[in-house]
Amino acid sequence: TTDGHAGPFAIPTDLLIGEAWVPAASGKRIDILNPATEAVLTSVADASPAEGIAAVDAAAAAAAAWAATPPRKRADILLACFHAMMAEQEWLAQLISLENGKALPDARGEVAYAAEFFRWYAEEAVRINGELAVSPSGANRIMVQYQPIGIALLITPWNFPAAMATRKIAPALAAGCTCILKPAEETPLTALAVAEIMRRAGVPAGVVNVVNSSDPGPLCSGILHDPRVRKLSFTGSTEVGRILLRQAADQVISSSMELGGNAPFLVLDDADIEEAIEGAMVAKMRNAGEACTAANRFYVQRGIHDAFVAKLAERMGAMKMGPGLESATQCGAMINRQAIDKIEHLVADAVARGAEVRLGGRTPEGAGFFYPPSVIANVQPGSEILTTEVFGPVAAVIPFDDPAEAVALANATEYGLAAYVYTADLKRGLQLAERIEAGMVAVNRGLVSDAAAPFGGVKQSGLGREGGHHGLLEYCEAKYIAVSW
Ligand code: ADP
Repeated sequence: TTDGHAGPFAIPTDLLIGEAWVPAASGKRIDILNPATEAVLTSVADASPAEGIAAVDAAAAAAAAWAATPPRKRADILLACFHAMMAEQEWLAQLISLENGKALPDARGEVAYAAEFFRWYAEEAVRINGELAVSPSGANRIMVQYQPIGIALLITPWNFPAAMATRKIAPALAAGCTCILKPAEETPLTALAVAEIMRRAGVPAGVVNVVNSSDPGPLCSGILHDPRVRKLSFTGSTEVGRILLRQAADQVISSSMELGGNAPFLVLDDADIEEAIEGAMVAKMRNAGEACTAANRFYVQRGIHDAFVAKLAERMGAMKMGPGLESATQCGAMINRQAIDKIEHLVADAVARGAEVRLGGRTPEGAGFFYPPSVIANVQPGSEILTTEVFGPVAAVIPFDDPAEAVALANATEYGLAAYVYTADLKRGLQLAERIEAGMVAVNRGLVSDAAAPFGGVKQSGLGREGGHHGLLEYCEAKYIAVSW
């Protein structure tokens, strides 16, 4: 796919504004690297802030017709996008692997997950039901209708270049909104390919626009200060989320924020160790740890601790690290050099404070941004890895004695996205799940992501939910009509 012609169509590398792919007026391009080799794959058009506004123009021109398109028709188009995307699963997976570095099995899983948002929201588009009530005074009726919120700016990260785009685009379109997608500058090709698939599947011109930028600040700020824009949905770091929330405040733009996580993974003495290890492998190693839901801190009860650490190190140690496209690879490359630097720093800090390296912990020589699956045990309080997302294949393990202590440790963070609990006692598992400060808790499971479920965080992990019916409502305004009859 590197020459742009191995797929069913040439991968677009320009800006999608309205009906056409157009180059940036400046002629500027952004180089896209293959993280497994550090070689340049290709380049994409670098949009100026004026081109961001041109995308708003296109979204505005398409808005009324799209909002008025019958829900069944919107649903049919979204379902066509689902089938079109699944028909290209293998090709898209290779593209994701090329620009993101992840192993092909992870990439295939991502395409299926990403496509599922089209199917789920095709089903939701025809079920945007309102409410009708008699007012308490009896004087009138209260009618509530859900209307599209308006033009949406969607900003996505590099770790799931397909799924983060469809998780936003699909509910926006189902609700009747038009949008501007601003993918991450590391991984724009997947988003561009998905946009082309959507175009071919019948999404009308201007409903989805895509702009990339090497300098996203001014571009996004321009869009967020355009009075026609009413919605911001962002997935990325808490730091950038705060910047964007401040900008959204200027026009009081509705904001959905999926920000950083620092997921705890609790294993109680009574847990089935094989199941806990299976879950840990998914929670830690899916996407080589580059997920905001990734287990960052393993709190393991004393009685099962040593066996858990030994088995986890054995399983993670058996994983094959390498270029994502090689068929045996289970742990692909990290996104860039800064990612490797951050992991190295967090591991060094933990070791300096007394942690023991049980597996990995050393960056290999050679080209490509690789870091091996690693287990560090006895991580001491105060270690930075306990409060900072490592975003890589490093499991930090900490023993505990009392489950109440584990909950307190789990909650000792500004984040609150995902958490995991393993115990044979379901009642206790559910009690712990209620006490853990997180938007999502998996009990005896290593995976929470599901297009049908509300994904999102509490505390500084974000605002709002994506997926499920909740995800649709983020793109709707409740219109209340008081009526007497
Ligand atoms: P990560 O740490 O995962 O790279 P970032 O928060 O830096 O996360 O990036 C996520 C998305 O936010 C990317 O699409 C990036 O281009 C975009 N982004 C980064 N800085 C800004 C900014 N100042 N304004 C708008 N978007 C930004």
